[in-house]
Amino acid sequence: MSASTESRDRLRIAIQKSGRLADPARALLGACGLSWRESRDRLFCYGEALPIDLLLVRDDDIPGLIADGVCDLGIVGRNVLAEQDLDRRQNGVAPAFRELVPLGFGGCRLALAVPDDWEWRGAGQLANRRIATSYPALLRNWLAEQGIDADVVTLSGSVEIAPRLGQADLICDLVSSGATLAANQLKPVTTLLDSEAVLAGPVAEFEGERALLAELLLRRLDGALRTRHSRLLMFQAERAAIPRLLPLLPDAESPTVLQVDGADRLALQALCHGRLTWQRLEDLKRAGAQGLMVLPVESMLA
Ligand code: ATP
Ligand code: ZN
Repeated sequence: MSASTESRDRLRIAIQKSGRLADPARALLGACGLSWRESRDRLFCYGEALPIDLLLVRDDDIPGLIADGVCDLGIVGRNVLAEQDLDRRQNGVAPAFRELVPLGFGGCRLALAVPDDWEWRGAGQLANRRIATSYPALLRNWLAEQGIDADVVTLSGSVEIAPRLGQADLICDLVSSGATLAANQLKPVTTLLDSEAVLAGPVAEFEGERALLAELLLRRLDGALRTRHSRLLMFQAERAAIPRLLPLLPDAESPTVLQVDGADRLALQALCHGRLTWQRLEDLKRAGAQGLMVLPVESMLA
């Protein structure tokens, strides 16, 4: 381990400076109770509430910063982490970082996309074709698994226009809605990797003060991720309606039931982990729920 890692008793997390993961990453860490004082160059944010600092960087730099011990943790797409991990392995370099927790945002997939007029009949079709990608290690690994010999053309950006420019026959790129592909007369045909933002950390365990801080952060992260879709549902109902209401709450932790007046009128509180859609609330109302109220959950401690 480098000297810089040994001498620090603060935790340092690398996140994307700007881009798709920047805001959700900050919001999630904020929901864990972290706050920062920003430096003038906006590259380093000094942790105020806890000794946990942020480094704002390009997403591609995050795995390397963890490998070098410059940062302890990072929030980065699984696609970037897996690509750089495979690249290291393919070059005989020891693994240095790993995925710790999937974070549920930044969802996308690494997919092969072919020109619209291709009729896709499977991987066999790819022999000796040129495939443009920014993910050469993941693509080579997949081609090897399929037993296909194809030509990997590595590009750092604008992969989707490569077929039109005659640089490649097809591409291997990130897809979310598919709109960018469609705009370039391409269609996704097979997925190599399902991706989302993840918390990444070193292969080695933390030691000392930073181990305690990392443990605290992971515990809070777990709570923040669980509360993200959780809602407290409150309503009143006649006792006789309860058997009709409970089946509509399969995702609720055992509801708290209070007697309101007499024996027949009850007030219920249920912590729901699934989505409380309008449809579901209307179904509950029809089944006898009155005065329905849905409240967001600020924090939860298991
Ligand atoms: P940087 O300047 O930090 O290098 P970037 O251009 O590489 O930024 P973004 O486009 O912001 O990165 O994407 C960051 C991550 O967002 C991707 O690595 C991926 O994990 C995720 N992502 C989600 N949907 C998509 C998508 N449709 N296209 C590209 N990335 C996506
Ligand atoms: Zn990038």
